[in-house]
Amino acid sequence: MPFKNLGLHPLLIKAIRELEYTEPTPVQAGAIPPILEGRDLLATAQTGTGKTAAFLLPILHRLIDQPRGFSRAIIVSPTRELAEQIEEGCRKLGKHTSLRSTLIVGGKPIQPQERTLRTGPDVVVATPGRLLDHMNHNMRFDKVVTLVLDEADTMLDMGFLPDMKRIITKLPNLLQTLMFSATMPPVIAKLANDILHKPASVQIGRRTATAVGITQAAYPVPTHLKTSLLRHLLRNTEMPSVLVFVRTKHNAKKLAKVLTTDGFSVAELHSNRTPAQRTKAMEGFRRGAYQIMVATNVASRGLDVDHITHVISLDVPDVPEEYVHRIGRTGRAGAEGDAFILVAREEEQSLSRIERQIGQRLPRVTLPEFDYNSPAPKPAADAGQRRPQGGGGGRQGGGGGARSGPPRSSGGSGGGGGRPNPNRPGKRGPV
Ligand code: AMP
Repeated sequence: MPFKNLGLHPLLIKAIRELEYTEPTPVQAGAIPPILEGRDLLATAQTGTGKTAAFLLPILHRLIDQPRGFSRAIIVSPTRELAEQIEEGCRKLGKHTSLRSTLIVGGKPIQPQERTLRTGPDVVVATPGRLLDHMNHNMRFDKVVTLVLDEADTMLDMGFLPDMKRIITKLPNLLQTLMFSATMPPVIAKLANDILHKPASVQIGRRTATAVGITQAAYPVPTHLKTSLLRHLLRNTEMPSVLVFVRTKHNAKKLAKVLTTDGFSVAELHSNRTPAQRTKAMEGFRRGAYQIMVATNVASRGLDVDHITHVISLDVPDVPEEYVHRIGRTGRAGAEGDAFILVAREEEQSLSRIERQIGQRLPRVTLPEFDYNSPAPKPAADAGQRRPQGGGGGRQGGGGGARSGPPRSSGGSGGGGGRPNPNRPGKRGPV
């Protein structure tokens, strides 16, 4: 079905065409009609499904013929990065209209935001804390009729449930609430029940391991050798754009330092970074200036980078959905991507839970050339003091034979085909 069958304004259709969206994604086909009708909506859909345009397009459509000078729609999203992406999407989709949007996020001076808000940008994209700061400083949003709560489950995880409720109480003329969530835990279902009025419902199948284009593998390895195995994989596999997940910001920092010492170009994304640093990291990674992004879960929610070829999890998330979120960062828009997870013996149970959730057992890959029996290195050694094994380190480490990783066929336990080949000449080494 073409977009114009949805009845969207020609100025939006023009932008859609320029973005080369040929037809609506399932969440767009399901969500746009009821939103255009002014109905509330409860959508279960993850990042990567096209959900941002699913709410932006009908919101922009409904605003095009309204007088300017008042904020009429607010989109609340859990992280600065996600809010930035939404606002950027709003500008792109609204490119041929005179609609204005603004970004209201923490970590930036409040006064310029206040001045902008007073001019009444049509769409406000905000993180909850900063939006409430403005609301509590007498900024009124009386003309706001549409509210989007995006990634509601992440907001819940981040402790924003009370903020979401407070925001709603500060919007006296709200007519339409749209709630998007990747998962529907009971608290979110209850919130939806409390705040939504006869919502239309859209459920887009969970993006599971079987999503097209993602090849997954588990690498069993003792915890103390995880960093070494990661470095080995990075040196010996062609990985043009890698997102590495670690559990804590401390580990993210430490690992980024190790990999930088190895000669890789590395960006960090975690909550200890300033907003300017986070933006720089995101943009650099998007542009390809950094080969590796080391990130914690929360900071990377909603990360929308098209070209990520590999997602590597250095730990096994306790919550299976988290794994699905992580691997959703690669293989976007039908592209190919590999997702590796490094699993210590004590994490096998968590991995089993993930496998049950995704309905698939991941092939286990072991690398014959990697020394799994090395003793635990002294903390300093694994923190980057030691030169990489086998390659003299850094740029000489070379690395990068053929695109490799786990076997692409379904079998392959025990590290069969496709494993990194350290003897192949590197097409692409650390940059
Ligand atoms: P989202 O789920 O909103 O994060 O969107 C994921 C990606 O899909 C973004 O890079 C969008 O630009 C892209 N996208 C959104 N809608 C479409 C569409 N109808 N056709 C192709 N790509 C799309």
